[in-house]
Amino acid sequence: MSFTMHGLGVSGGIAIGRALLMSHATLDVARLTLTARQAEREIVRLDRALNTVRKELLNMRAQNKSSAVAPGELIAFIDLHMLFLADPELVDATKQIIRERLCNAEWALVQRMEQLVEQFEQVGDPYLRERKYDVMQVVERVVQELLGKSAKAKGGLSDEANRIVVAHDLSPTDAINLKKHHFASFVTDVGGATSHTAILARSMAIPAIVGLVSARAMIRDGEWLIVDGQRGVLIVDPDEQVLDEYRIRKELLELERSKLKRLKSTLSQTLDGIRINLLANIEMPSDMDAVLESGASGIGLYRTEFLFLGRGDLPSEDEQFEAYRTVAKALDGRPAVIRTFDLGGDKMLDLQRTPTNPALGRRAIRLSLVEPKMFHTQLRAILRASHYGKVKILFPMLSHARQIDASLSALAQAKASLSGENIPFNHDIEVGGMIEVPGAALIVQTFLKRLSFLSIGTNDLIQYTLAVDRSDEEVADLYDSLHPAVLTLIAHVLTSGEKAGVPVSVCGEMAGDPKFTRLLLGMGLKDFSMHSSQIMEIKSRIIQADVGEIAPLARRIIKRGETGKVEEAVAKLNSRQAQS
Ligand code: PEP
Ligand code: MG
Repeated sequence: MSFTMHGLGVSGGIAIGRALLMSHATLDVARLTLTARQAEREIVRLDRALNTVRKELLNMRAQNKSSAVAPGELIAFIDLHMLFLADPELVDATKQIIRERLCNAEWALVQRMEQLVEQFEQVGDPYLRERKYDVMQVVERVVQELLGKSAKAKGGLSDEANRIVVAHDLSPTDAINLKKHHFASFVTDVGGATSHTAILARSMAIPAIVGLVSARAMIRDGEWLIVDGQRGVLIVDPDEQVLDEYRIRKELLELERSKLKRLKSTLSQTLDGIRINLLANIEMPSDMDAVLESGASGIGLYRTEFLFLGRGDLPSEDEQFEAYRTVAKALDGRPAVIRTFDLGGDKMLDLQRTPTNPALGRRAIRLSLVEPKMFHTQLRAILRASHYGKVKILFPMLSHARQIDASLSALAQAKASLSGENIPFNHDIEVGGMIEVPGAALIVQTFLKRLSFLSIGTNDLIQYTLAVDRSDEEVADLYDSLHPAVLTLIAHVLTSGEKAGVPVSVCGEMAGDPKFTRLLLGMGLKDFSMHSSQIMEIKSRIIQADVGEIAPLARRIIKRGETGKVEEAVAKLNSRQAQS
């Protein structure tokens, strides 16, 4: 039966394909009815899977014994999981279920887990009650092993070129794994417009919708879907007529995109002759092909934390160096701004403890400064890469002067250690800071005195200025890029940078959204950093803009104190271009 669902379109375009249901927990396994002999084989399978997971945990334990990342907590967590893996309450009871009910190992394991979870829920002691999550985690890992490691999605991902992933939620780690496969689109029940998962969809230039509430429950695996990422519309099991209509719209969109590609070698300059730098945001070295294809004038933001996600260990200095050098070399003299890891928040390391409020907790530079060994390793790797191209360093989430000073002294130490070993690097490497905390924007002079460039992260700046979680669809309507408070902060940073002669870029999602191009140009922005797929469209707006004409209008817009009015005024500002 055909039906339509509405959510938050976070990445434009149209996808037509079959649904691929992703189970985040991997725990909705099917029951198979077996013979007694087959059941005995299931017990052998179960023992093997338990052994593999045990070995994995032992390895993790050995590797992290000396790690600086919460070693005590991590080791305790591993030990607890090891205990569960060997606990007869879990293992023997599961085997009994297999034998008595003649079923497959994964199904029996999940049954037993549910019984244990129920028992934990009855316990009065809150600490013990929480242990149900450990049991769930252990069982999930064993079930994954039984199903084959990469079989997180039913049917696997290998043959999924035209599949549309349907999930309750996708963590940035899930999304980065999916990025390695070719699929047409993804849709999720939850998520906000600038959640990192949405950002990844835009970086892959595939349509995506989040906040569909119950898509995962209502859609069946293999069902035909149409995703309209622009409007946030998902059509399930469409009839032939609707399919035809969308096929035509898809072709038209593709035609428009290919026309824009002609702008690749067009100079990025406004009508009144102002040169605008269009830089790219990347998550991994494999993004470089698209960057070179887009004609970007460099990398404005390399989110290095993706190198650290979805693994039980930390990337070594050499592994990081190889990744950074690949990017630096590919740019052939154009700049590469490498941001030190922004872990925490919604990009937690597997080894990290989840804080009460991740967005306000030990995230980005805050984590770097309490993990000096991990930070030192990354700084050395970036410095080493600076010998191979125009590398710059960017520190994320700064709010206090002392954080800037501590980061700079960590950099000085990394430089000294490389010099001591005669390893070449650029001694005059430029160092910048991100402005993504409102407090930082308000004391921007502190930043301008200490750093050689700034980059405004509007995604977080909006989140923190308006106290709206960027990944929560329930408050998405309050996540307002045009809120006068947000615009005032951006304008303050831009004008302060201009006066001090310090370049300021914008690398948040606002830079790649054509709705804001004219406004940002009018506010004086000259360095825009975005996904490579957005560069041509933004360039098409830039070459039609006259900054001299827009600037006074932009100034008036920022002075308007009321939210709705700003939106109206920006729409007017944009329509002036459409008419000219
Ligand atoms: C931002 O906050 O705008 C930004 C670019 O950083 P991230 O999206 O990685 O938090
Ligand atoms: Mg940010």
